[in-house]
Amino acid sequence: MTVRVGVVGGGQLARMMIAPAVELGVEIRVLAEEPGMSAALAATAVGDYRDIETVRAFAKDVDVLTFDHEHVPQDVLRALIADGVAVHPGPDALQYAQDKLAMRRKVAELGLPQPDWAEVADAEALGAFLASHGSRAVVKTPRGGYDGKGVRVVGAATDADDWFAALAEDGRGGALLVEELVDFDRELAAQVARRPSGELVAYPVVETVQRGGVCAEVVAPAAGLAPEVAAEATRIATGVAHGVGVTGMLAVELFATASGRVLVNEFAMRPHNSGHWTQDGAVTSQFEQHLRAVLDLPLGDTAARAPWTVMINVLGGPVAGSLDERFAAAMAAHPDAKVHAYGKAPRPGRKVGHVNVSGSDLDAVRADAAAAASFFLD
Ligand code: ADP
Repeated sequence: MTVRVGVVGGGQLARMMIAPAVELGVEIRVLAEEPGMSAALAATAVGDYRDIETVRAFAKDVDVLTFDHEHVPQDVLRALIADGVAVHPGPDALQYAQDKLAMRRKVAELGLPQPDWAEVADAEALGAFLASHGSRAVVKTPRGGYDGKGVRVVGAATDADDWFAALAEDGRGGALLVEELVDFDRELAAQVARRPSGELVAYPVVETVQRGGVCAEVVAPAAGLAPEVAAEATRIATGVAHGVGVTGMLAVELFATASGRVLVNEFAMRPHNSGHWTQDGAVTSQFEQHLRAVLDLPLGDTAARAPWTVMINVLGGPVAGSLDERFAAAMAAHPDAKVHAYGKAPRPGRKVGHVNVSGSDLDAVRADAAAAASFFLD
């Protein structure tokens, strides 16, 4: 009998699980938020992932339930488990990707390195943190942030008053996370996959380049990274994976300082933008690996297929027309570039696709990937 995997969420991450599922002979079904989403091709249901009955009906016919995002509420996840549904990653692990305060507490408990941080409930507490951290800090909303939304650099105790007011209105007694403003040299990401049995594999550590709080480019492996820094990044990601009991893919975003320190920024418990390079640059893509891990199948080789792979996000897309119309020109000019389109309408700042290029000369690979991606812009 064919194994059936259900993916909650119809975005591009679910979409990119479809091809590997077909190749593995796995039936994939998607619960999309609305019709016409990126993963519509495999959407067998459309509905609200916060509604227990909607998710329950979807989960009834699948062997394993997994996710395209981390937003399914804990009570929904726990009700599914009580129903006997295999949920990977499970709620105990997912809580740390859902709530940045819970994540900071857990990283502290695991003894892994991270920026100084505090939980602050009002401007006074934020002021006290600022006073002891050079009057600059980063404030984050613990829940619901992505692509830099919900992240703000502050220099005064009153700079987060609107967020404190929103929390007070919410009435649930929440708090904000404040962190030291890390003077990082660059940002890294370490990805691992972990099976329910605990078996784990790690991918080469990559560098992520953010622009305006959004990932713009990934270089795999991170260029010029000292072996001990790469080993430390992998040690941290492995420690997190075992420490929180994640199943499936885990990406740990990290800050690397000029002095060689590596600090945890945050986690994602699913395929992640920092791992898109693996589709064309690694023996096993993160999407195939995620399916293998959540289905408790033997994990695939994580080795790179080429000395360098560069991934460039296509952000926004063309001002006029569709992405599809640009394909022929991009393909003609860059036959070595692998283009991945998400089937989403172009909109300023929106991630609508990405380009991977692999090769042995990093400068050439980088230039080629950027040039190929530029065909999809303006
Ligand atoms: P999101 O959940 O929106 O991805 P992140 O917590 O990853 O938010 O923050 C987005 C970006 O903001 C990071 O990639 C980094 O460039 C910057 N940033 C976040 N936290 C800090 C910090 N403590 N110090 C310096 N820069 C930070």
